[in-house]
Parts: sequence; C-alpha cells; structure tokens
Amino acid sequence: MTVSRGREFLSIPGPTTVPDRVLAAMHRPAVDIYADDLFDVTLSCLADLKTVFGTGGRTYIYAANGHGAWEAALANCLSRGDRVLVLESGMFASAWGEMAGVLGLDVEVLPGRPGRAVDAEALAARLEADRAGEIEAVMAVQIDTASGVVNDIPALRRAIDDAGHDALYLVDAVASLACMPFEMDAWKVDVAVAGSQKGLMTPPGLGFLAAGDKARARHESADLVTRYWDWTSRDGPEHYMKYCGTCPEHLVFGLREALDMIAEEGLDNAARRHALLAGATRAAVARWSEGGALAFNAVDPSERSNSVTTVRTPGFDPAALLAFCKERCGVVLGVGIGPELSGGAFRIAHMGHVNAPMTLGTLGVIESALIALGIAHGAGGAQAAAESLGAALAEPREAAA
Ligand SMILES: *Cc1c(COP(=O)(O)O)cnc(C)c1O
Repeated sequence: MTVSRGREFLSIPGPTTVPDRVLAAMHRPAVDIYADDLFDVTLSCLADLKTVFGTGGRTYIYAANGHGAWEAALANCLSRGDRVLVLESGMFASAWGEMAGVLGLDVEVLPGRPGRAVDAEALAARLEADRAGEIEAVMAVQIDTASGVVNDIPALRRAIDDAGHDALYLVDAVASLACMPFEMDAWKVDVAVAGSQKGLMTPPGLGFLAAGDKARARHESADLVTRYWDWTSRDGPEHYMKYCGTCPEHLVFGLREALDMIAEEGLDNAARRHALLAGATRAAVARWSEGGALAFNAVDPSERSNSVTTVRTPGFDPAALLAFCKERCGVVLGVGIGPELSGGAFRIAHMGHVNAPMTLGTLGVIESALIALGIAHGAGGAQAAAESLGAALAEPREAAA
C-alpha cells in the first residue's frame, strides 16, 4: 500500500523545489541572443545579485553549477603554486580544496572537528604563525550541506583581521544565500560564490560569483585565469561575452522571476522563514533522538544550519527509511554524503521555496516511517515541530481591556 499520489515533495538540499512562477517564466520560445531586451534582463539580474550578496562589487553569472563557480573563484585571483588554506567543516569545504589542488595550488587544510563548525581561534593561530604571509587565500563554506553545519563567516573574518593577515577571503554561499543573512561587504568577504538550484529557487545550471576590489586587484596578476572564467572579458560591454558565449536564456528568465520573488518576500523575511522551518525540523529531530537510534550530526546546537539538517543514524540503515518515504509516501529525502556520513545519515532540506506544510508534511512522513519500520525513536516529533512553529508564529496578545 502506498500513499504517494499527489505532488511529490523534494526535500533534498539541492536541487530544491522550483516555484511554479519560475517554471512559467521559462516556458517561452528562445529569443535572439543579440536582442537588447535580453541584455537588459542580464543587467538587471547582475544588479539584483549584488543585493542578494550584499555587495557593491561586481557580480558574474556562469553557465555552470556550484563547482563552476568554485573554479571561477580560484582561477580569477590566484596563481600556480599559491598556498590556500581550506577551513574543513564537511565534505563541501574539502571538495573545494581538492579542486584547488588539481588547479595547481598548494593546498593546506585547517583540520576540522567532526560535526563542528570551523574554530575561529584555530584559524587566527594558524594565520599568526604565517609570518612570511605565504597563505594567499582562506577558503570557507557558510553552510556545509553535507555536515549540516553553519560557519560563522564574520567571526572567521575577525580571526583573519586579528592575525593581521592579508589573505583573500573566499566564501562558498551555495547552500546559504537567500536562506540566511549574507553581507559580503560588511563582512569583508573578497569573493563569494553561489548556485541557482538551492536558495535561489532556479533549476540547476547557473553559477554566481561576486568579487570585491581586493580580489579584482589580485585578478590583474593571477596566472590561473582562463578565458571562460575570466572576469575581465566578462566585464566588457559585449553581452555575448557576459556568458563567454550563448546566454543560457531560459535559466536567466527563471532567475529573473526568482529574484523578483526574493525581492517581494524580502531577504530578512526569507531568512526568518528558513529559521522557523529549521527550528521546527530541529524540534522533531531532537524528540526522535531520545530513542537513541538517530542523532544530530551537528553537535553544537548553535552550529546547526537553517537550510539543511543532517541526521546520523547509528541505530539503523537509512536506506530503508529513505525508500519508505519516497516510494510509500512521496517525500524524497537527501542521502548522507562524504566519507563519514555516506550510508550512516540522511538529510532533511528546508531550503529555498519551502513553506510550513512542506516542512511539517516532510517531518510527519519521517515519523510515519520510523513507526512503520519499527525504528526506536522518541514519539511526538511531528507534534514538537508543530508546537515549535506555533509558538514562533503566535502573535503577542493584546492586554485584556
Ligand atoms: C551544492 C553545493 C555545492 C556544489 O554545487 P553544484 O551545483 O552541485 O556544483 C557547493 N557547495 C555547497 C555548500 C553546496 O551545497
């Protein structure tokens, strides 16, 4: 018996649910790539991306995914043999570091602690020890989608400043942009990257990058730059070169609509919505964890991200739970990824175009699965989620007249 008819919930941390408005905006014939109105759409998206990144710097749109934006960040402001310091906090930070090694950079990893965010003091200590200033860039991830940990990007900036170090600060905001605050200029981030298919609610296929003045100055002498990623050629007046070739038109039409939706809701409200839905998810996971068979991967409650919750499953094989949720109930959950979590965790996304019924529905289905599969768990997780959300949304009562 299944209860999976109806709209399937895609509760994975990317790609996320694409709003009908975004799908509709893409449903149109191709247009002339040399037309002025397409150029205007590009310029308006580049301008609105500045708002989303919180920067007065330059923004770029690549026909690429997040990995493309990663490569763009490294290639545009570094040179062969430069040392970069990767702040380990989960699989994504590590994978970005591996890419740096393949590009010919000298990669040093600041070791992380399992299930923990980057330690700002450890970063400061490492940079203070670098008296010769050999480290050219520090690479951090805001929300590591594998571990479910959120890093404190402004605190890591302060650590760099406290050490008096001149390294570039490169930040991956792929799984956090438009889901939680990101203030590129205020936090003195030199390069930030994102992708279309997470908080930005657009199908996969676009990579975004924002670059500040310091990064652009380094760009002048960077020898890893190749034509496709090159900021300079994309900065020129020719629309065709903004994409180094044909504009990925339909994705850009979708992005335009998604940016309108973000502006309508407001970045602050979007961050608050993510915080509430994450809070409801954490209330459920905390309750279920009382049974001992599952647990938060992020050890410290203050380091649990607002866009994805990674749940370790020491007491059972998560494959059966995932299959039950998808095939019997129509909810697709994320698998555990990375050496420590593959086969031993699952992930619940609360990222992008997501609302209360989607999150509460997902949590209710997980609880049904725990019951149906006989997995030991603290009862009442779905109830705890409803209570969390209800309390957060309660209007302050007027004093009785
Ligand atoms: C998804 C993700 C990436 C990679 O993006 P792709 O589009 O899959 O290449 C990088 N970093 C983080 C934090 C992510 O969540």
